[in-house]
Amino acid sequence: MNSSIIEPLRSAGRLHRVFIDGEWVVPQSQVRASVIDPSTEEPIADIALGDAQDVDAAVAAARRAFTAWSASAAESRAVLLDRVHTLILERAELFAQAISLEMGAAIGFARSTQVPVAAEHIRVARDNARSYAFVTHRGDMAIVREAIGVCGLITPWNWPLYQITAKVGPALAAGCTVVLKPSEQSPLSALLFAELMQDAGTPSGVFNLVGGNGPEVGAALSAHPDVDMISITGSTRAGVLVAQAAAPTVKRVAQELGGKSPNLILPDADLARAVPAGVAAAFRNVGQSCSAPTRMIVPRARLQEVERIARDAASSFVVGDPRLQQTTHGPVANRAQFDRVQEMIGVGIAEGAQLVCGGLGRPEGLSRGFYCRATIFTAVHSRMQIAQEEIFGPVLAIIPYDNVDEAVEIANDTVYGLGAHVQGQDLVAARAVAARIRSGQVHINYPAWNPHAPFGGYKRSGNGREYGIEGLEEYLETKAILGFQDASAARSG
Ligand code: NAD
Repeated sequence: MNSSIIEPLRSAGRLHRVFIDGEWVVPQSQVRASVIDPSTEEPIADIALGDAQDVDAAVAAARRAFTAWSASAAESRAVLLDRVHTLILERAELFAQAISLEMGAAIGFARSTQVPVAAEHIRVARDNARSYAFVTHRGDMAIVREAIGVCGLITPWNWPLYQITAKVGPALAAGCTVVLKPSEQSPLSALLFAELMQDAGTPSGVFNLVGGNGPEVGAALSAHPDVDMISITGSTRAGVLVAQAAAPTVKRVAQELGGKSPNLILPDADLARAVPAGVAAAFRNVGQSCSAPTRMIVPRARLQEVERIARDAASSFVVGDPRLQQTTHGPVANRAQFDRVQEMIGVGIAEGAQLVCGGLGRPEGLSRGFYCRATIFTAVHSRMQIAQEEIFGPVLAIIPYDNVDEAVEIANDTVYGLGAHVQGQDLVAARAVAARIRSGQVHINYPAWNPHAPFGGYKRSGNGREYGIEGLEEYLETKAILGFQDASAARSG
């Protein structure tokens, strides 16, 4: 699989280039970094890292392109996004392999989920470009929603293509031009995406890619005086640094950050459905999702039943080589994640939480690769570190409660507020609980994923919303033109 992804990128010179103003150019710095295959811990490619000078060149190109792109008809932007959407679907297998290789996603999961949902963000952005009312009228005023300008987009490695399309789609639909800085941990899918943008006929400078490290390229983009907006998806730590760097130039900052999402199982829930689906959701993408429901909050009277069903659900996972179609869970994405997961499992044991399954070390039979055991703790108390901190790996905490008020309190008892789930057969009661949860999304009884649902954080999970119409509006300024119509005519009309 390696060669089918890496060789074409290498021979086209992509691995050692950045994409600026419609051209693949050699970055200013000569610094290289290795891409590590998390399933073998072996380097599979070396890539060139951009630096602040490349950011300057990319921002200048985006600025030059902004005048024409922001003034273009929304329909022509939709036409470009339509081509991008088509090309993602055409190249889906290539993207799935790249994602699997760079961050260890099981190939079946990359094919069935990572890539198709990424394409959905472009489709929704295309449709919104067509249907959104960029100009509305109120009395004698015209209210114009127009592109905010040049946007810096900083993305993580966990859903690498999905995070890119969630930003690039709406930014371009709005009429913004962009400089993308993907995670240095997952550069391959980003390079393929830049190639695709070129092949789709994106006008020069509208889309630029500068790969590199956060503290170098990400920080330069955040501080840049000619960038109007930064959108970052990543850890709360990086989100704070970006906001600090952006503050002196008063740019808009959208932050999609960490989470520790609750899954509140009400006393009347059907456990046979609620628990396995909750376990599957917590361990999807090996737990490396910001909105993974990693705290299962369950009635104490039903704790043992929950533990048994959860253990059975986890035992059906096939952890192993991500290249194999039957694998459900590959390794975590990198050494830092592996160490973090091991550390936090150790913390949970030391805090007195009880293991339902999993634990320290690699799964049996796997001696290399960043493989972790699917780990479920029970008898977790909400103030324990494993119930408070984002682990970003295959670790689920089961927390018992005695009454629903206490359950809601536990659900809200972290600094995060990104996703949340409520399970229960009485929909009226479930809705009442959903209303009391402080988070950007609440899912009742596992509805299907909806790309139109605004997504984002309360509290330290971030600011702003992505996806759907709200995701488009993030990239728009609001201009009121007063006296747009003759006031007396407007009054009489
Ligand atoms: P990270 O914060 O280390 O990196 C995210 C991005 O920020 C990368 O591109 C990185 O290079 C960049 N970055 C790092 N330091 C920077 C700095 N000083 N200035 C500018 N940019 C900088 O996160 P990660 O390890 O790639 O991803 C895991 C984290 O992302 C988790 O905490 C997870 O919850 C969060 N996440 C959130 C969402 C969401 O939508 N809310 C989605 C996915 C991941």
